Amino acid sequence: MKKTIKDYDLSGKKVIIRCDFNVPIENGIIKDESRIKKSLKTIRYARKQGAKVILMSHLGRVKTIEDKEKYTLKPVAERLSKLLRKKVKFINETRGQNLENAIDNMKDKDVILIENTRFEDLDGKKESNNDKELGKYWASLGDIFINDAFGTIHRSHASNLGIASNIPNGLGFLVEEEIKKLTKLTNKPRKPYTIILGGAKVSDKIGVISNLITKADYILIGGGMAFTFLKAAGFNIGSSLCEREKLSYCKEMLENYPDKLILPIDVITATEIKDNTKTHERFINEIEEDEMGLDIGPRTLEVFKQYLDDCKTIFWNGPVGCFETKGFENGTKELFEIITNTKAYTLVGGGDTARAATTFNYENKISHVSTGGGASLAFLEGIELPALKIINEKK
Ligand code: AMP
Repeated sequence: MKKTIKDYDLSGKKVIIRCDFNVPIENGIIKDESRIKKSLKTIRYARKQGAKVILMSHLGRVKTIEDKEKYTLKPVAERLSKLLRKKVKFINETRGQNLENAIDNMKDKDVILIENTRFEDLDGKKESNNDKELGKYWASLGDIFINDAFGTIHRSHASNLGIASNIPNGLGFLVEEEIKKLTKLTNKPRKPYTIILGGAKVSDKIGVISNLITKADYILIGGGMAFTFLKAAGFNIGSSLCEREKLSYCKEMLENYPDKLILPIDVITATEIKDNTKTHERFINEIEEDEMGLDIGPRTLEVFKQYLDDCKTIFWNGPVGCFETKGFENGTKELFEIITNTKAYTLVGGGDTARAATTFNYENKISHVSTGGGASLAFLEGIELPALKIINEKK
C-alpha cells in the first residue's frame, strides 16, 4: 500500500501538491473546470491540517515562447481562489528568487500556485525529460510531496517522479480514488465485461487492445480508429482516417479475434468536418470516395446496445464520433444513454470522453469518470506507472 497525504503530519509543513490543472482555456476563460474541482479535496485537507500549500501543475504542451501566454496557469489561480474562498498567490515563474521569497513568507494555510511546469520544456525539455537538477530544486522548496495528478502518473516528469525521488511523499485523495476505481477493472472484473474504444488513432490504443482482448468479453470499436480496422477487413473507407502502417496489425487482430472485436456496420459520412454540414447515413460498403466516416450510425448503435445491455462492467475510452461538431455527436451521446441504462459498473476515461460526458450531462450517471486518458489505459494494461511506483510504501 502506498502512503497517502493522511500518513503525514502536515502542520506547519511546506507541502508541494502536484495537481492536474490541465484544463481547456480559451482567451483566458476556463471552458471546463472539472479537474480543478476534483483537486479541491486534497488542497482543503492540507489547509485544514495547517500546511503551507504549494501547488504545481502542467498545462498543455509548451513548445515556443508564444505558447507561454496561451498556457499560463494564472486563470486557474483566479478560479481556485474563488472555489477555495482563499486568495491563491500566483507566482508567474517556475524557479528563482521571487518564488523562493514567496515560499519563505508563507503562513500556515496559505496557498501558492507556481507557473506551468512545462515552461521548463523550453529549456531542453527539463520538465518532460525529468531533469535531475530541476526535480531536486523543486523538491528543495518543500518538506513533503503529494502527487494528486492522475493524468500524468504514467509519465516520468521532474514535477512528479523528480520531486518524489528527493523528499518524503504520498498520494492525494484524487489519485487514491482513481486507483481504487480502476482496480475494480483489473482485479476480477464482473462479467460480461465490454470495452468501447474510439478516438482518432489506432496507434494510441494498440497496447490496450492487445492486452485486454483476452480479459474483456468484447471490444466495440468506433471513432476514427474504426476505419483502419474496416479497411483491413476489406471495405472501401473513402477519405476516412486511416493509419496505413497499422493495417497489418488490425488484420491480424480481426483474424485472431473475429467474435470479440466488434466494428461499426453503418456510419455517418460527410465531405467536411463542419457544424450542420450535409451528412449521409451509409452502410460501411456504401462509403463514397470523397466522404469521411465521422460518427457511428443508428444500426451500429443497435448492435453495440446488444453487446452492452447485459454487461456487468463497461470501460469506455475515446469518443465514437466527432462529437464536438454538430451532426456527428449522436453516436457518442446515444452510447452514454445506453451504458447509463445498464446495471453495469461504468468507467469512462480520457480527456475527450470525459468532456463528452459533461457536454451531454451524463457525468453524474457514470460510476466513475477518470481524469486520466493515457494514464487509465496504462493502468488497465498493467504497465508500470513510474510516478506511482516511486511513492513511498506504508510500513
Ligand atoms: P483521441 O484523442 O484519440 O481520443 O481522439 C479524440 C478525437 O477523435 C475527438 O476530438 C474526435 O473528434 C475525434 N474523432 C472521433 N471520431 C472520429 C472520426 N470518425 N474521424 C475523425 N476524428 C474522429
